Amino acid sequence: MGITDETIAEVRAKADIVKVASQFMQLKPSGRRYSGLCPFHGEKTPSFSINAEEGLYHCFGCQVSGDTIRLVQELQHLDFPEAIEWLAGQCGVVVRYTERGQGEQRQRKAHLTAALEKAVAWYHDRLLTGRDAGAARAYLRQRGFDGESVRHYRLGWAPDDWDQLSRHLDLPDKVLVDTGLGFVNRARRQQDFFRGRVLFPIFDPQDNPIGFGGRIMPGQEGPKYRNTGQTPLYDKSRVLYGLNWAKSDVVKAEEVIICEGYTDVIGFAAVGVPRAVATCGTALTEDHVRVLKRFARRLVLAFDPDAAGAAAAERVYDWEQAHELEVVVADLPMGQDPGDLARSDPDRLRTAVEKPMPFLGFRVDRVLAAGRTDTPEHRARTAEAALDVIGEHPSDFVRDQYVMEVADRCRIDVERLRASLRPGGRPRLTVVDAPPRPVRADAPELVALRLAVDADHRAVILPLLHEVLFADDHHAVAFRALRDAGGDLHRAIDEADVDTAALLRQLAAEDETGDPVDVRRLLLRLQGQREVEILRRQLRGATDAEAAELNPMLAWLLTRLQAVAPDARPGREVEDQLLAWLADRAEERS
Ligand code: ZN
Repeated sequence: MGITDETIAEVRAKADIVKVASQFMQLKPSGRRYSGLCPFHGEKTPSFSINAEEGLYHCFGCQVSGDTIRLVQELQHLDFPEAIEWLAGQCGVVVRYTERGQGEQRQRKAHLTAALEKAVAWYHDRLLTGRDAGAARAYLRQRGFDGESVRHYRLGWAPDDWDQLSRHLDLPDKVLVDTGLGFVNRARRQQDFFRGRVLFPIFDPQDNPIGFGGRIMPGQEGPKYRNTGQTPLYDKSRVLYGLNWAKSDVVKAEEVIICEGYTDVIGFAAVGVPRAVATCGTALTEDHVRVLKRFARRLVLAFDPDAAGAAAAERVYDWEQAHELEVVVADLPMGQDPGDLARSDPDRLRTAVEKPMPFLGFRVDRVLAAGRTDTPEHRARTAEAALDVIGEHPSDFVRDQYVMEVADRCRIDVERLRASLRPGGRPRLTVVDAPPRPVRADAPELVALRLAVDADHRAVILPLLHEVLFADDHHAVAFRALRDAGGDLHRAIDEADVDTAALLRQLAAEDETGDPVDVRRLLLRLQGQREVEILRRQLRGATDAEAAELNPMLAWLLTRLQAVAPDARPGREVEDQLLAWLADRAEERS
């Protein structure tokens, strides 16, 4: 049985988030919001904020957010229908029920989760008691896993056989396939996906099983690790092993350690640092970063970032800027992974993350350590290699500090090094084809979005904006969600993906005093400058005929940009013209 949409709508309309929250915590008015100590993480200064008008909450500490119903679910540990019933009781709404049960999708996911839960239990039991699991148990013992950790992480054993799990679970083909636990073979029979492997069950942050990582036994043939494939529950570009166990310590420490392997995560926890997670068979993606920034402000990389290549380095700087994160590198001994170090030298592993290095510092050090410095020629070459790495960093100030260090270490005049780092002085360092960098997250795009979610401003600012003004994809998606929902914040949140919904709720909890017209001008200027860069780049490689077309365009754009300069007289007509032109240009490119 489900609850009717009408009942849900009535509860939404009548529930008072401040009244509800006040039953669990002390709230004080703060500006146009209410704030208090977060009930979801330990803190001494309030970072939990409520937007009473919109009925939304957000914690700036642990990044939880939601509406009144969500708050009741979390505080009272209820599921959605139960929270509606609880709230209905509070505000005198009569609950009506439907014949059909939960939404089909929700039900389907619940089926998959239930099947995976059974599989976790079965595999775990096989490891603990199976006669065929003796070698697996011996292997785990030898790798330092005692009974307690085997049970805590619910490790399992997949027998080296065709279909033992499938027969035990007896699931419909579709469910078996959608869980990733098995497949239907050519003889139309169900077959297990994992065989002859030690299994590490993978859970979502709410502790629901979503898949497995399977390690082959030493000496056997096949890839060392095999993970669940893409399923409705398991998306490898977002999945982080261990986040379910690590999240409370991550929130407390405001930092998360990122490893490459399951045993690394377990190794960190074993030495008393229970805030590590691992990507599962992929490089770190921006989706991972988005998941993690809800919990932490600092990412500690506990793997060799150089192995991921310089292209990955550029992305790290973009992530730092776009998500206001700090990325540092654990000081691990060369060639040792955390899982091994946890056993051989626990103290060394702990200090590796206590004193991590800035990402750029780590990379510069690497280059300097690898380069020769015995002759002036060698020192020059080493300095050049270091400058290449430094040149990737977007901040002048940061770059300059490392330039000074290189000058010192390579005994080269610092002014000469500075000159060769400057664009023009060192052409191969000015990466002309790089896409425009996203602006800083505290910058105008977020101001514009905050105004767009604000009940007092949204009617004014939404028609003034356009998605072309948002260089950061995540911001553009949030803007589109608001625009497509006609400025209805709750509809936008309901229809958006998880990350966008979280961003919108956070924005609703933040006070904004910016002026809609000013911020629009600023965004126009920034996007205009990006177009200037693009036109200049095109002109560099242009034929005469192309240049004849591009030059007037650039001249036109530059005069329009003067019209939106900070000291220029505001002119709505010019701004509209410029916006239309920018939108067309972006459209042509896509
Ligand atoms: Zn919190």
